[in-house]
Amino acid sequence: MEGKIVLINGPVIKALHMQGFKMREMVMVGFKKLIGEIIILEGDFATIQVYEETSGLKIGEPIVSTGSPLSLKLGPGILGGIFDGIERPLKKINEISYGFIPEGIGLISLDEEKLWNVEIKVNIGDELKEGDIYASVQETNAIVHKIMVPPNVFGTVIDVKESGFYNIETTIVTLKQENKIYELKLYQYWPVRNPRPVKEKKSIFKPLVTGQRIIDIFFPLAKGGTCAIPGGFGTGKTMTQHQLAKWSDADIIVYIGCGERGNEMTEVLEDFPKLIDPRTNMPLMNRTVLIANTSNMPVAAREASIYTGITIAEYFRDMGYHVAIMADSTSRWAEALREISGRLEEMPAEEGYPAYLPSRIAEFYERAGYSTNLNGTEGSVTVIGAVSPAGGDFSEPVTQNTKRFVSAFLGLDKNLAYARHYPAINWLSSYSSYLPLLKEWYEENVAEDVIILREKMLKLLYEENQLLEIVKLVGEDVLPDDQRLIIETAKCLKSAFLQQNAYNDLDTYVPLNKQYKMLKVIESFYDKGSEAVKIGVPISVVANKDILEKIYKMKYNVPNNDFSLIDDLKKDIAEFFDKLIEKYRK
Ligand code: ADP
Ligand code: MG
Repeated sequence: MEGKIVLINGPVIKALHMQGFKMREMVMVGFKKLIGEIIILEGDFATIQVYEETSGLKIGEPIVSTGSPLSLKLGPGILGGIFDGIERPLKKINEISYGFIPEGIGLISLDEEKLWNVEIKVNIGDELKEGDIYASVQETNAIVHKIMVPPNVFGTVIDVKESGFYNIETTIVTLKQENKIYELKLYQYWPVRNPRPVKEKKSIFKPLVTGQRIIDIFFPLAKGGTCAIPGGFGTGKTMTQHQLAKWSDADIIVYIGCGERGNEMTEVLEDFPKLIDPRTNMPLMNRTVLIANTSNMPVAAREASIYTGITIAEYFRDMGYHVAIMADSTSRWAEALREISGRLEEMPAEEGYPAYLPSRIAEFYERAGYSTNLNGTEGSVTVIGAVSPAGGDFSEPVTQNTKRFVSAFLGLDKNLAYARHYPAINWLSSYSSYLPLLKEWYEENVAEDVIILREKMLKLLYEENQLLEIVKLVGEDVLPDDQRLIIETAKCLKSAFLQQNAYNDLDTYVPLNKQYKMLKVIESFYDKGSEAVKIGVPISVVANKDILEKIYKMKYNVPNNDFSLIDDLKKDIAEFFDKLIEKYRK
């Protein structure tokens, strides 16, 4: 079976004599065997997107079938890896040819020679079903890689290796089901565009704790949930995603970089391997997978990178891990979609994006979830996508359509970023629909009143926003003191709580119970201050410089493992106001 190229248009080619090929099949294109995928098949005429540079191709060259859809090899060697959009290892490619991917290098992915210390978990005669774990490998110091029976495979163990050192190509277990024989190795294949099956999707009930105060307290993320981080250039999308990669309580991080600026991806490739995992003091890469799209890679590979990333995430979820996947930015991915669609001469919809943009975005975010896996373990995939609308204008199609399919929205604000208020997450426009689902967890694990406290503080921020409108017109002096106290408290909330410095060792990550205690201090300033204002203490006295100074500084001097300084501060505040109130009552 062999087709013939009849037209070449950048990453898109058309071919004839394609009868017998299948839709979405992976094919080898041309004499150089470039990797392609059939995206339209009409009779014997096919349109193919090619994942490699097509400039050397010529009309008349052959198309050869591979018989399977674009699939990933999933097994030990993924963790710590840096791959392109179709799981080709960039380091290895760089050794072969620095700076670019040579044509026709083929679908190399995981190291086939490396020996892994394999621990066997089954015996001859065992009945295995899809998802069952038949072996494990300590892949890195951080993660045990569980080797699972692929979906749709069942059978009785008729042969099994002993525990020992094997490469991924070794047959570890042989299964027999009626007259079918399955030779299971240390890896399995999975087609990237299909979600991996689970036993049951469960409802969301656990937060993804990030150590970032504005997120954890005000707009919490959920394990198995979705989140969008839209923001204009320089507002902190990449920084926020790096903070989540470093500090969130996910077991495994899959980071898809679609380089914004020319050198940004290079920075990621240099920075990530240097990051230290706060949990193990070892490289964060030990539980990270990086997928990098540099600007010189073909657009089709960028289009596929999102699916490659999420397939890897699902695979680790199936082992019982909590995985967080970050894409930075999905706008670059949507542009790849737009470019390919343009080459296909499809009817453009909004701003030149194809009409199927919303369904593609939905397909990505819908693969998030908290599940009971086929093997009975529990795991989750949390999807966090940055969106970079031109000029920070959120009304454009990628931001708007993403908003439809995510449940948490962290809107980055250029005015906040300009004022160096970081993270520049706008507390008026951001939201998390997970709050009702996580309420119980927060009340049990943080404090009974934490949700009430959150509402109360958020309300103050909203009120401040309205008051500032009035202040703009008539100045602050005409406001009554109780309203000026709201403004003082909101100021305090903003600089002592919402602002969080990623470059400060103490402030970069804050445990939830410390976040709660910090907020209680600000609440006590407001409550005690209100009492004082009520009996006529002037705001200039209530907004005591020393007290406020101490509140502002609490994030830089309270250690993360000893909160006694916060308790002391709360006592100081109470004493200060009690004395004040007593004095003014007389
Ligand atoms: P974007 O990806 O949206 O273009 P970046 O993530 O590169 O923006 O952020 C731009 C700059 O903003 C960073 O280099 C950093 O100096 C600053 N920044 C963003 N978030 C924080 C933070 N939480 N703490 C300190 N600085 C920050
Ligand atoms: Mg960025």
